[in-house]
Amino acid sequence: MWVFRSPEERERWAAKTKAGARSFGLIVFVVVSAGAIIALGAGISTRPQLAGAGGPPMGWGIALLTGLALGAAAGREAWKWQINGDRARTVCPACGTQAEHNEGLACTCGGAFVKASDMRWEDEPETSDE
Ligand SMILES: [Zn+2]
Repeated sequence: MWVFRSPEERERWAAKTKAGARSFGLIVFVVVSAGAIIALGAGISTRPQLAGAGGPPMGWGIALLTGLALGAAAGREAWKWQINGDRARTVCPACGTQAEHNEGLACTCGGAFVKASDMRWEDEPETSDE
């Protein structure tokens, strides 16, 4: 059954959600940065003739900076996407249907959707302690 979280549990949920979004953003940052640095660095350094007649080819330094900037932007977007998604999740406590972006709206079962962050699933109502 779905039960309402206590204020302490909501705080724990918020902290967990933030930490999860942070590590997701960090992973995206690392992957995108590494990919961009390798692609830019390798692409630029293997095609020096495209850098212009006699012009100095762009090196790994620029690839590194560009890659890190791209990675940081992508990581921040991923973090926002993740945390907004977590906050948008809803559940109908009456039937357990899960959805997104419909807090307060009626469910087909006659119940109403509430924020998933305010609810938690409890297998055995008798043992309320985790
Ligand atoms: Zn329902």
